[in-house]
Amino acid sequence: MKIQKLLCPLLIISMMCGCNAHKALSSNGGVHQEFGDSQHEKYYEDTYMMNITYPNVHIEEVDEAIQKQLDICKQAFQSKLKTYAGKDKAELNIDYQSYLKDHRYISIMLDVFESLDDQHEQIYTIVYDEEKEQIIGIEDVLKDDFSKTVSALVQDTLKQQYPDECETKDFQLHTAPAPANFEDFILRKDALVLYFQEGRVLDHSVSVEIPYEDIDTFTSMKAEDVAVFVPYEDFLNEPVKNIDPDKPMIALTFDDGPSKKYTPAILDALQEHQASATFFVLGSRATEFPDILQRMVLEGNEIGNHTFSHKQLTTLSKENIEEEITHTQETIHDVTNKYPQVIRPPYGSKNDTVMECAQGKKIVTWSLDTLDWKSRNTESVVQKVLADVKDGDIILMHDLYASTAEAAIILIPKLQEMGFQLVTVSELYEYGKHDAGKIT
Ligand code: ZN
Repeated sequence: MKIQKLLCPLLIISMMCGCNAHKALSSNGGVHQEFGDSQHEKYYEDTYMMNITYPNVHIEEVDEAIQKQLDICKQAFQSKLKTYAGKDKAELNIDYQSYLKDHRYISIMLDVFESLDDQHEQIYTIVYDEEKEQIIGIEDVLKDDFSKTVSALVQDTLKQQYPDECETKDFQLHTAPAPANFEDFILRKDALVLYFQEGRVLDHSVSVEIPYEDIDTFTSMKAEDVAVFVPYEDFLNEPVKNIDPDKPMIALTFDDGPSKKYTPAILDALQEHQASATFFVLGSRATEFPDILQRMVLEGNEIGNHTFSHKQLTTLSKENIEEEITHTQETIHDVTNKYPQVIRPPYGSKNDTVMECAQGKKIVTWSLDTLDWKSRNTESVVQKVLADVKDGDIILMHDLYASTAEAAIILIPKLQEMGFQLVTVSELYEYGKHDAGKIT
């Protein structure tokens, strides 16, 4: 399986029928969250961890359907845990993409990755028609008789992409012209995307994109414009900083973002107090929020690599670890014209293979954990930092929660009053403070 990547993804509107092997990726490289508010749940226990991101769309039927699916996935994972005796922590990673088409159709795609004795990825889709006020199926979107044409398009695309994997009975059976074969779908602005579950058509999950113009006899939907961003090429406006090497300094770090709501609030506070922080962003979100990433760089903050899809790297193959890291490096470079110099593996999990794949970049963990994801409490985050902070600390937070953004707004001026300079992780290294922080 290869992670597919396009340069300057948002500048390209694909008009070709394409397909994708899945790893929480869309064809144009990023997670799309065009609709709903992101919710985050994290669990970190002795034997397992869960990292769950899903949308709240404020439509009862859809939110209920999402919750139902999440409950099923969590319960199935918990029941498999009972017999799991592997040496790595078991992992459940759920992420989502959401799309809005013609201001009418809301599509949600849940991507569920499970790592116990084996690793599996499943895709779940929900499409809601705001005009009819109900969840709909593919037959509500495409006219009768679509399945013959769609079947041919799917077969051709997959045969081109996976010539050695399409000679099976399952392939024939599950891509045959029957509407039931095409029930996992979403409506993107530019294309209908069909999903095929792991083990059904191929031995891995896969998607096929069909531009609306290729099926215009069956639908009146037309491609809408996709948002465009201009890659950042100008370093001239980056601020010059006055850092006193003899005074205490610490690095605030924010993982798992950016988030459309809370990251800008944290950036505002940093800018107001001429402070810097390091944002360990997910590659999957980098193209979704190019303006936020560019703002980070322009205002003197550092962007670190937190992998593409937040999987525990130590359970992945070397090839997959490399893909997670490299794809994120390239994605961030496409947006900011800079390669991250620091990498933080999800959960801080690392081994020799992870170190090898870092390509000379520094692998950074932290020395002060605010546990902000657990408490979701501003006061508790503020107190924890103020009680424990010392020169050279690398402080772990997540720019996913209102409570963390509020804590950052309080902490930034407070820490400066206490005499700490708020610098980036790389600056901490540059001034030789990294011995105090637990960096490897
Ligand atoms: Zn993380």
